[in-house]
Amino acid sequence: MKTAPIPYIAEAGFSVTRHGKPSGPPESWIQLASNESSFAASPAAMEAVRRAIGEIHRYPEPSSSDLRNAIAARYDLPAEQIICGNGSEAVIETIYRCYARPGDEVVFSRYSFIQFRIFAERVGATAVLVDERDYTPDIDALLAAVTAKTKIVLLANPNNPTGTWLPRSEVRRLRDNLRPDIVLVLDAAYAEYAESEDFTAGHELVAGTENVIVTRTFSKAFGLAGLRVGWAHGPLSMIRVLGRMKQIGNVNRLAQTAAIAALGDLAFVNDVVRTTSASRRRCAEALEELGFPSLPSQGNFLCTRFPDAAAVHAFLLGQGIVVRPIEDYGLGDFLRITIGSDGEMDRLIAALKQYRDEKG
Ligand code: PMP
Repeated sequence: MKTAPIPYIAEAGFSVTRHGKPSGPPESWIQLASNESSFAASPAAMEAVRRAIGEIHRYPEPSSSDLRNAIAARYDLPAEQIICGNGSEAVIETIYRCYARPGDEVVFSRYSFIQFRIFAERVGATAVLVDERDYTPDIDALLAAVTAKTKIVLLANPNNPTGTWLPRSEVRRLRDNLRPDIVLVLDAAYAEYAESEDFTAGHELVAGTENVIVTRTFSKAFGLAGLRVGWAHGPLSMIRVLGRMKQIGNVNRLAQTAAIAALGDLAFVNDVVRTTSASRRRCAEALEELGFPSLPSQGNFLCTRFPDAAAVHAFLLGQGIVVRPIEDYGLGDFLRITIGSDGEMDRLIAALKQYRDEKG
């Protein structure tokens, strides 16, 4: 179950050409490779950034107080139990830096977010990758993988890159059966897109614990990936520890301003989520009809199986369409396709039809 170090790959900071250069002029490229929102940010957030531009010679508020208060009000959480970071990725890495050392083990599902492995390498801990069932985290297997050396267990729900998710009862079972000295990170980066009544981001599972922390982001449904804003809700004891490790002013002034404004425009986010799920359904059906089935996704992306994923990836690049090969995740038969606008999805579906007709 233990893995050798993987080549260094930064999931965040994606550039359109990282996985090969698309054909055509850059303005015609379609970016469907990094699970950003294709629906921009709320106009209110953009206006707030424009207004705040004159203040960029001032440092940001050191611990994002106003933003934490806005998050607390929106999600009905105590502000002192919230910490903000330069993307949720930075918050998760801070958790590693606080709680895992060389020789320790960090446990998560095999097809989890790749940064979970990279952060383990950075702190010298051992990443323990646990086998899944139907590309979905297996709680019994995760619990069975825990040893005396385990310091952190992570669950991304819904998961990237598979898009699969676990219901509340399973997440609760993981929490209830974990030793209380092990930190449980519930990474809810895609929570806004999860539609089922049985889904939970996990905030209610934090109460009464000293070890459970939920991480969230403004990079996906809120459309602020370029500003890097994430946050976590955890027990006061953990938030204090993380607060000592984080840098002062770790969320920049424009990012704090934009995130506060974005939280005030929930109608926009709800609209993004509705549009994304309708588009995800339509795209999954169209690809299935072409013979390319996808895993059941609750994210803003599809994880789609192809008989020759590498050839499809190259073909799409030739059409100016960039999707994400995920062989680095151990999923070489799949491509991860971010849900874009209707026009972008039409172009993707047409290109895949052409591929199927020419080569399939
Ligand atoms: N968790 C998961 C599962 C993700 O897919 C991502 C982004 N790709 C992140 C965390 C980090 O997001 P950010 O740093 O932009 O908040």
